[in-house]
Amino acid sequence: MRTKRIMSIVLTLVMLLGTFPGMSLTASAAGNTTEITPTNTSGTMTITLTIKAAPTVTAPTAKTLTYNGQKQELVNAGSTEDGTLYYAVTTENKAPTDESLYTTSIPTGTDVGTYYVWYKAIGDESHSDSDAEVVTVTIKEKTEAHTHKIQHVEAKEPTCTEDGYEAHYECTECDKWFKDLGGHYQLDETEKAEMTKKATGHKWDDGVITEAATYYETGTKTYTCSVCGETKAETIPVKTGRSSSSSDSSDSDSDSSGGGSSGKSGSISTKSIDVNGNVFGGPSAGFRYAFK
Ligand SMILES: [Zn+2]
Ligand SMILES: [Zn+2]
Repeated sequence: MRTKRIMSIVLTLVMLLGTFPGMSLTASAAGNTTEITPTNTSGTMTITLTIKAAPTVTAPTAKTLTYNGQKQELVNAGSTEDGTLYYAVTTENKAPTDESLYTTSIPTGTDVGTYYVWYKAIGDESHSDSDAEVVTVTIKEKTEAHTHKIQHVEAKEPTCTEDGYEAHYECTECDKWFKDLGGHYQLDETEKAEMTKKATGHKWDDGVITEAATYYETGTKTYTCSVCGETKAETIPVKTGRSSSSSDSSDSDSDSSGGGSSGKSGSISTKSIDVNGNVFGGPSAGFRYAFK
């Protein structure tokens, strides 16, 4: 590909220069470098075309790792003499698209799991860059030094908030699940998940108004779970709509010309207030009512 491109450049040059009489072209090649020197009577111009060779890379190798709570280097360093080796790490088998994630330091990992260590050479002046390649590394769970103390665990139905499970055997020390009392067959995470019954979530009733909303203050509606009796409160927004003047006529009107007073003592005799505190109607229409 690269060679073809260079050849076409050379050909173009030859054709171009060929149109100038008295100009000659010499080309010499050494290694990856081709030198073209067109000459004429007035001077010499040298064009150097370099074919960058692919770098030779010694791949990093995965380390055998067990969780120890510390950061651990994931690979034994790779190497290249044709540039600089860069690394990046992902937890998905997908090369990072962000070039800034590549550094020259050896990637590390702490948690148990699978890591993908990507590496590529950034070539020096006579070498091209290599494509990113990957090494898969696993940090294994720490192996238990204890002898499992296995007990039978009865099946448990899930509750609103806690998961339930089918009957199984479980080690009282490390919480691992087993199929048998002898602990010959340990259940993996998938099998454990299959035997787990997810928490059901609360079943709320229609709710009861425990504190009615007024034109000034929000109210409270309380819902009760029909299964476990748990309750939750929901705020009822302040009342909206125009209030009748008769029902509020006993209120003092002293606040009608002022702003920023507490909602509790405010007058609403000829005004109504929406949820945002905007007052409609009355002599002070448009005045923003302050709620606590
Ligand atoms: Zn155990
Ligand atoms: Zn419940």
